[in-house]
This record gives sequence, structure tokens and C-alpha cells, in this order.
Amino acid sequence: MIYRDLLARAEKKPNGCIEWKGPKNQKGYGQIYTKRLGKKGRPYLVHRIVWEMFNGRLSDDLMVCHHCDNPKCINIKHLFVGTAKDNFDDAVRKGRITPIGNPSYNPSTRPRSLSLPWSFF
Ligand SMILES: [Zn+2]
Repeated sequence: MIYRDLLARAEKKPNGCIEWKGPKNQKGYGQIYTKRLGKKGRPYLVHRIVWEMFNGRLSDDLMVCHHCDNPKCINIKHLFVGTAKDNFDDAVRKGRITPIGNPSYNPSTRPRSLSLPWSFF
């Protein structure tokens, strides 16, 4: 599998995003079932595969994030690597998450560290 194969299943948008038209997970991220990376076949996030095609294997504790906030986007130029915390900070900066005042965020029932639930992403 190469980038061109993925692009064949995506559509370029006027804003520069290349939107994945194939299967997606519940959060809207492109996801395909593949044996890539020499492991047993399992679902992989398409934008993560794209990043790894260009940059090599990515450590599991790092995330591939979108500058454009478009989960379907697989434009390599719109992707960057961050930790979960980076992604959270980025989301707060862009106003997608409001940690204080978010009705679902109850500090008393959550760890004090920034181990926020993955559902935020
Ligand atoms: Zn994009």
C-alpha cells in the first residue's frame, strides 16, 4: 500500500483537505483493516498510516493530530505529531474543549493529572 492508493479513495477539497471516502470509525476518523507494520491485521487509523508512510514508525504513545481539525483529512501537510496532552492543549486553544465549565467534566471524580478520557479526542 502506498499513499497514492489511499488518495484514490479520497477527495481533495477546496480548502486543501483530502477527505477520506472509505470506512470510518465512530469518531469520523478514516480507519482501515490492514496487516501493515508486520503485526496481526487490525484496524488502523488512515491518517496515522499516512504519517508513518512519510516519516516511519510512530511510537504508540504519540498521536497524529490534524492542523485542520478535519478527522477525515489525510493530507500529509495537515498532520502533525503530538502527545495526548499536546492534542488536548491544541483542542482547548481552538475552542473545541472547555475543561472548566464543561458539564461533563467533574474534577472531583477525575484524576487530578491531565489523564482525560480518550473520548475527548
Ligand atoms: Zn486537512
